[in-house]
Amino acid sequence: MVDATRFYIDGRWVAPADDARAAVVDPADRSVIGEVALGGPADAEAAIAAARAAFPGWSATTREQRLEYLEAINLALIARSDEIGNAIMREMGAPRRLARRAQAGSGPQHFGEVIRVLRDYPFETPLGSTLLQREAIGVCVLITPWNWPMNQIATKVAPALAAGCTMVLKPSELAPLDAVILAEIIDSVGLPAGVFNLVHGSGAAIGDALTGHPDVDMVSFTGSTRAGVAIAANAAPTIKRVALELGGKSACIVLPDADFAKAIPATVQGCMLNTGQSCNAPTRLMVPRARLDDACHLAKHAAEAIRLGMPIDDPDMGPVANEAQYGRVIAMIDQAISEGATLLTGGSAPPAGLERGLFVRPTVFCGVTPDMTIAREEVFGPVLAIMAYDSVEEAVALANDSPYGLSGYVWAETRDAARAVARQLRTGMVHLNGAPLDSAAPFGGYKMSGNGREWGRFGLEEFLEIKSIYGGA
Ligand code: NAD
Repeated sequence: MVDATRFYIDGRWVAPADDARAAVVDPADRSVIGEVALGGPADAEAAIAAARAAFPGWSATTREQRLEYLEAINLALIARSDEIGNAIMREMGAPRRLARRAQAGSGPQHFGEVIRVLRDYPFETPLGSTLLQREAIGVCVLITPWNWPMNQIATKVAPALAAGCTMVLKPSELAPLDAVILAEIIDSVGLPAGVFNLVHGSGAAIGDALTGHPDVDMVSFTGSTRAGVAIAANAAPTIKRVALELGGKSACIVLPDADFAKAIPATVQGCMLNTGQSCNAPTRLMVPRARLDDACHLAKHAAEAIRLGMPIDDPDMGPVANEAQYGRVIAMIDQAISEGATLLTGGSAPPAGLERGLFVRPTVFCGVTPDMTIAREEVFGPVLAIMAYDSVEEAVALANDSPYGLSGYVWAETRDAARAVARQLRTGMVHLNGAPLDSAAPFGGYKMSGNGREWGRFGLEEFLEIKSIYGGA
């Protein structure tokens, strides 16, 4: 079993400063599958000191040296992907194949992309007579959530290493196991001591010491907007770079001429993927009022076709990832009903036969109006809200009427029509007619969804400073 009771600091597995621990719980049956150490300020201090000491050496390595380490880590991630997938399946309840392929596979996907970018990234470029030099920003604190754990870790660790930064990773205390396997891999490839450090702990109890420390140059955070605000405030007095990837309430606009038989099921499946626990999930579905009945019928049918079950049996959808999230999802479903939304399918009652775990049926509401909580707040669970619009202008206004701005989705008969709507959305990303994410393109949000861009070249640049050397070109 993966051991999350020790930290990896300065190239060694070490005991935490004190012995506070929490259980790691499998949400499929609420069984305890391990323990995680809950670190505090002393552990943060030790990890940051190790990263600071390692920075001069690591930042002076050549591109080729860093590529060698990245390639070795990538190969080991591929070799251990079933093990990583199993850890993710147990710690957060992703169905077996989703855990092994999409979840565990995101490690090699992002390491692979960063390796491609690093091979010919121009660290020095002339601008007239000035030389522009890009160099590592320094010591980075990387804080990640539990929903796509390896994905979020890889999108930070790979570019930070490639840039020449040293780092302290603090993964979610609710899903810490896959991060331990990554630390084992990093140890096994012989990365210099102190370049990568791993600590565990709960929120601000260790987070404040990490994100406020004067020896830290950058914080890269993925998680809730609430925690992002706290982290940005804590980092402000020391003027750190703070890259935030936060929550979302992404809209999907289906134009009147779109292929409804494709668009509606795809939106339901996109919303329910990973039990609705993706920051960029399409959670508000906007359809022309004249086609509302048609859309509701298709959505109900698609939601009811989703097989719910124990992750090991590889269903379409597993449980919600943890007790706190489960309580929140159930409360939001009940609140939507009490605010007058029409429940088409699903609901807060536990599905038969799965009562021991944190299961919620795929839930679809129609008759949702913009003032309802279900239209405004992120659920982070398998819940879709269908809203009607009377004109495309109104659909765009509804989509933009959100404090969030992570993703948008547009379905139309032609790409030109879809693109015209996409240009009007205040979001960092837009998918046209079901086009998938692209790991070479920047991932990130507008407004309260964050201020960072991850993945590929743009993700690498988050970890770089730029220096103007006048007369240097
Ligand atoms: P969370 O904010 O509670 O926790 C995320 C991480 O931050 C955990 O490691 C946690 O221990 C740590 N943390 C919490 N408070 C902290 C503090 N004050 N200082 C330092 N660290 C702190 O979020 P969560 O519940 O784990 O994840 C769900 C949220 O993450 C959702 O809102 C979701 O939309 C968002 N998310 C965003 C993206 C994105 O890329 N935009 C991706 C995935 C998830």
